[in-house]
Amino acid sequence: MKLKEERLEGELLGEISLLAENKRLREEILQLKKEKEDLHRILDNEKGPLLLIGEDFKVISANKAFYETFKVVEEEFRGISLAESGSGRWNIPELPGLLDALKKGKEPVNNFEVTHHFKSIGTRTLCLDAKLLPENSEGKNLIFLKVEDITENAQTQTELRESIHRYNEFIHSSPSFIAILTGRDLIVEVVNDAMLDNWGKGRDVVGKPLIKEVLPEMAEQGMEEIFHQVYDTGEPYHAHEMPLIHHRDGEPHLGYFDFVYQPQRDLQGQIVGVAVIANEVTAQAELHKQLREDERKFRQMADLIPDKISNGDPNSYIFYYNKSWLDFSGYSQEELKILGWQKLVHPQDIKKLEELYVVAIRKGTGFEAEIRFLNKKRKYKWHLVRAVQVKDEEGNLKSWLCASTEIHKFKQEEKRKEDFLKLVSHELKTPVTSIKGYVQLLIRMMDSTEGISIDSLPLRSSLNRIDSQVSRLTRLISEMLDLSRVEEGRLDLQNEIFDINDIVLECVQDVKYSNPNAKIEVHQQAQFRILGDKDRLGQVIINLVTNAIKYSPENKKIEVHVLRNSQGEGLVCVKDQGIGIDKKDHHNIFKRFFRVSGNNEETYSGFGIGLYLAREIIQRHNGSINVKSEPGVGSEFIIKLPVIE
Ligand code: ADP
Repeated sequence: MKLKEERLEGELLGEISLLAENKRLREEILQLKKEKEDLHRILDNEKGPLLLIGEDFKVISANKAFYETFKVVEEEFRGISLAESGSGRWNIPELPGLLDALKKGKEPVNNFEVTHHFKSIGTRTLCLDAKLLPENSEGKNLIFLKVEDITENAQTQTELRESIHRYNEFIHSSPSFIAILTGRDLIVEVVNDAMLDNWGKGRDVVGKPLIKEVLPEMAEQGMEEIFHQVYDTGEPYHAHEMPLIHHRDGEPHLGYFDFVYQPQRDLQGQIVGVAVIANEVTAQAELHKQLREDERKFRQMADLIPDKISNGDPNSYIFYYNKSWLDFSGYSQEELKILGWQKLVHPQDIKKLEELYVVAIRKGTGFEAEIRFLNKKRKYKWHLVRAVQVKDEEGNLKSWLCASTEIHKFKQEEKRKEDFLKLVSHELKTPVTSIKGYVQLLIRMMDSTEGISIDSLPLRSSLNRIDSQVSRLTRLISEMLDLSRVEEGRLDLQNEIFDINDIVLECVQDVKYSNPNAKIEVHQQAQFRILGDKDRLGQVIINLVTNAIKYSPENKKIEVHVLRNSQGEGLVCVKDQGIGIDKKDHHNIFKRFFRVSGNNEETYSGFGIGLYLAREIIQRHNGSINVKSEPGVGSEFIIKLPVIE
């Protein structure tokens, strides 16, 4: 019995201890479960994806971040070999190698980058840290894998690398000279091959101060100041065709450069250096220099020419006027450019000029025209204008070159000649008509009164009239002949020594004969002899006295004086109280064909060559002829002649 009880007691105790053991085990299990949950919580709390893998590469566990990052579910991973996990999506070719190496080397692997295409999230770049954990209770190693998705970083880095590459490519492949200089000492930080070539230096200049060591010759050319100015003020500096001397192999080389010095700033905006971007433009600068020289030569030449030269653009805007233009117009170059050529052209000539211009443009030719331009005295003067188109090699109009020659005098001469021809016909016709009239009258009278005695005809008076008209005709013709003789330099003088008073008296007598009503007084205040052509001098005196009569419509007294002046010269003066001559014409009346305008042709017949011939004749006698005259008061013509003592 006792035995049975003991056995029962023993069994009971056994039961109890089993229960206690069960409880302990349960508690341990609970503890383990809690620890596992805590571990999971810790892992899940970790932001980056984590993975725990067994030696057989089967996934033991992964944290929440892993599932979320790669958009996968736990069932596809847990207990499944990594290569097959996630329906094969994690079959990353680089991984087995990595894990093997880890197993063998036992050393942790850090920052292992791998790019893989995941169906769920596309191509990603991962950074893996793998670590072998100490053997577990089963004596097996576990692998702890920390996965970081660095796709964004990788992209940024790629972009950065690309950008740096592009920047380097740009700088080094650029045909422009590029350098980046840091600090106020201008340390060469970046320099491209083109710039090195230009400097005649090697890569070893990098890191050296530009002016102090690399290009000391730049200092004396004032470039250091410019660099410092850019560095200190932050204002870029631009240069165009600047001549600079670089020493290559000890030899100075002159080149021309277009360049910019650009301040370089850091992210905070502080100036940290200066970038240089330059281009050599020596050929172009030399061409420009040559062009400028040519231009200067052209302008100098144009200024030498008495003609007016101008240069205009294809739109007929004139951008250059030579000196002759400035002298003529009284304006400066700038004033003329602003004023425009149109203001200088006579309003009546503008249209003509515009029409010619349009035709010339259409035909691609130049043009020629007679145009009046305004001078500084506000008077229009006739010019012959010649304009040509300056074209480039392709035949495009580049500019207009225009030369204008003043032809005002020529035009006036032309006009005087025309007037002269009209006058000649008129002057010749009048005496001829008159002669014809008298002759016809006499014939008619003889015919109608048959048997009449000759004496009863008005023969004397008619013949006198005819004679006077013939004399007039003869004078006109001889004046014209003399004119052509003078023009051809054939006016010969038959010189002899004679008393001036004799010839003066003779001439006055002649004039009086054909002008019986004229009141002419001769005052012989001196007596002298001269060497000359009697007839020619007589012709001059007759002309002066005849003019005095002709231009004294009121038939006032005419005086002829023979005298000597204080210099001992012999003078013959013809003085009238006629219509007089305006001061402005005193000079003109001695010109060919000049007649004071307003002279009524009917009242004062003449050619305008008498005084011209008179002056020629007197000058040939080494003398001079002048006039003193006042309109409405009268005129005095004074002949001065050398005297034979
Ligand atoms: P013309 O044949 O016209 O008289 P001249 O050469 O002798 O030519 O004179 C030129 C011009 O000078 C004349 O047309 C006239 O206008 C002016 N003239 C000449 N003499 C006198 C004078 N004594 N009084 C006023 N005008 C004169």
